[in-house]
Amino acid sequence: MILYPDLYCEGVTAVTIEILRQHNIKGLILDIDNTLIDYDRNMDEKIKLWVNELKEKGIKFCIVSNTNKVDKVKKVSEDLDIPYFYFAKKPFKKGFLKAKELMGLESRNIAAIGDQIATDILGANRCGMFSILVKPISEKDIFMTKVKRPIEKIIINRYLSKSKKEKV
Ligand SMILES: [Mg+2]
Repeated sequence: MILYPDLYCEGVTAVTIEILRQHNIKGLILDIDNTLIDYDRNMDEKIKLWVNELKEKGIKFCIVSNTNKVDKVKKVSEDLDIPYFYFAKKPFKKGFLKAKELMGLESRNIAAIGDQIATDILGANRCGMFSILVKPISEKDIFMTKVKRPIEKIIINRYLSKSKKEKV
């Protein structure tokens, strides 16, 4: 099912090197809003440590965000030392494919991590990438995201009850 993630996690830091190796993942595409930072743009220190640890293990990173707020993306990109593409219009493939090209990896060796099914997961699945859904950091969302959340909950619940896929 194109709307189902390959993996569902509590947050990005739950995605370990073991999980990535198990699925032959060599590069990660990261969403920003509610995946790395909350509504007020705060980022947990643990995320920085997580990125650095995976970098040391040879994992490549790229940020692909739908936001048009370049200052916000730039700040996260600088804090984590990860290149970025913004205003990406996920679930369209373009942003994912740009990130893929930049990382120099095959789609099957890339995982995209995000908190939204309709953008992050759908886009990754369309590109043949491994898709990882994370719980949103905060409940506070921009209006359009708020509208989509109840629908996402239905899909996630159905996914968790029916699928034999992993949950971390
Ligand atoms: Mg998001």
